[in-house]
Amino acid sequence: MGRVTASLDDLPLRDDLRGLTPYGAPQVPLPIALNVNENTHPVPDEVASDILDDIAVALRDINRYPDREFTTLRESFADYLGHGLDASQIWAGNGSNEVLQHILQAFAGPGRTVFGFAPTYSMYPLLARGTGASWVAGSRHDDYTITAEEAAAQVADADPDVVILCTPNNPTGTPLGLDVVEAVYEAARGVVIVDEAYQEFAPRDAASALTLLEGRPRLAVSRTMSKAFAFAGARVGYLAADPAFIDALRLVRLPYHLSALTQAAAVAALRNSATMLRMVDEIVEQRDRITATLEALGYQPHASWSNFVLFGGVADPDATWQALYERGILVRDIGIPNHLRVSAGTEAETTAFLDALASIDSAS
Ligand SMILES: *Cc1c(COP(=O)(O)O)cnc(C)c1O
Repeated sequence: MGRVTASLDDLPLRDDLRGLTPYGAPQVPLPIALNVNENTHPVPDEVASDILDDIAVALRDINRYPDREFTTLRESFADYLGHGLDASQIWAGNGSNEVLQHILQAFAGPGRTVFGFAPTYSMYPLLARGTGASWVAGSRHDDYTITAEEAAAQVADADPDVVILCTPNNPTGTPLGLDVVEAVYEAARGVVIVDEAYQEFAPRDAASALTLLEGRPRLAVSRTMSKAFAFAGARVGYLAADPAFIDALRLVRLPYHLSALTQAAAVAALRNSATMLRMVDEIVEQRDRITATLEALGYQPHASWSNFVLFGGVADPDATWQALYERGILVRDIGIPNHLRVSAGTEAETTAFLDALASIDSAS
């Protein structure tokens, strides 16, 4: 025992999974990790002890299964989101990745198609294929924008079972107008998901697709606590949709999928949302500083409403990625030629990144 002798090829794996590679953003312990759009500011101490108190209480009943309907948590999310939502319109999971997986398990699956405008979040195709569905990629302009008319035409043409619209879009940072969401919904026969993982980093007056839910039972708006809430390690994502849409998700979730500890931690964090979100303005400031400095260094940063910046004009992304790595800084090469993506860090981390990049001088 102890030695692994088989390879994947030796196992009776599903044919449709053969040759696929798992999600694999490098996870290496470098001092400055700006590669997966985490919030680099830790949870404030006063909130951390409040969360711990609630976890301690939950721990006393840990011999029992948790509330399968996570009612208190759903009420907390409804309060946080506002827009007149109530708990019957809320769903949650272990990260919005699980929430998206629930949607695809219910509405995609073998023989069905999932559509998104590329480049977009790399997990969408993987989640789609995991349910046996195929991924269909639509296209954007060179600056990654897309108009309502073009978006609707592409969706009508592809006729997918599920459309995923990511706004602000990962990995480009590009916002999408609500007119695009409305037009895509009209053009689509299937469900439409708006992934607003980065919505809290958008301008304060930017409208959310939550305002479109009324009268659109095939629409779902997903959010996460991983980014703005600095809660990536807790794994909590959620969505708002019509109560009937939520009923569909109940068919595919595992019983008791959200642990009592997760529920307790998330409820306590949401009670402290004002403090939890305190760093958002500071992060947006660092993002804008990254954009301005990259421009001054001769790169081409793309407009971003998120907590990261995608920038072009990198002569050799591999070499620049490596040079930054050697200086203790992790950024992301997402495979777009001549581009790299960097998350906004603390002021000190951002300074370290910008200084290191200036010293490398790799603008083309
Ligand atoms: C980070 C991210 C998420 C969040 O994933 P979690 O599973 O909630 O951590 C969802 N969608 C996009 C586009 C993201 O970039």
